[in-house]
Amino acid sequence: MIRCAVYPGTFDPITFGHVDVVRRGLVLVDKIVIAVADNPAKGPMFDVATRVKMIQETFIDESRIDVIPFSGLLVDLAHKQQAAAILRGLRAASDFDYEFQLATMNRRLDASIETVFVMAREDYTFVSSRFIREISSMGGDVTSLVPLPVLPYLKHQHTLK
Ligand code: ADP
Repeated sequence: MIRCAVYPGTFDPITFGHVDVVRRGLVLVDKIVIAVADNPAKGPMFDVATRVKMIQETFIDESRIDVIPFSGLLVDLAHKQQAAAILRGLRAASDFDYEFQLATMNRRLDASIETVFVMAREDYTFVSSRFIREISSMGGDVTSLVPLPVLPYLKHQHTLK
């Protein structure tokens, strides 16, 4: 039986922190479905199709990863994908409250799906999509913080301004 986990998030854009979470997840399960939240209310920098594309290009050589856009209930998606777990990443104590609430709520909705947390490498604990967007929009260099395929998309956003 193939063990699958769903890794949901906004990924606006994907960072090396996210990539590290995925790599650690792949040690635990056979397949990871990266579910990109289509949540226009959050006012993302990149639309969902672009966020999906950036992730697909990042993992182009990885057959154990699927990338899909998603809206609706996470537990419904997890069921549809026959996932045993929801994968999330933890950076610091500041992530904990929100992640705890989310995991508890999802467990309330469906007790059969376990949320599993992994910690990214220490050098990525400070990396967040928000900082990437801010630094990049001010012309800063984020080369060491995001996968290569993300750079042209960020550059394009910057030149649009
Ligand atoms: P969301 O809007 O769902 O929080 P994000 O794309 O910001 O979406 O994050 C998705 C998941 O990845 C969350 O569990 C978040 O804590 C985790 N994550 C993001 N960046 C890092 C990082 N640098 N190290 C570890 N986990 C991270």
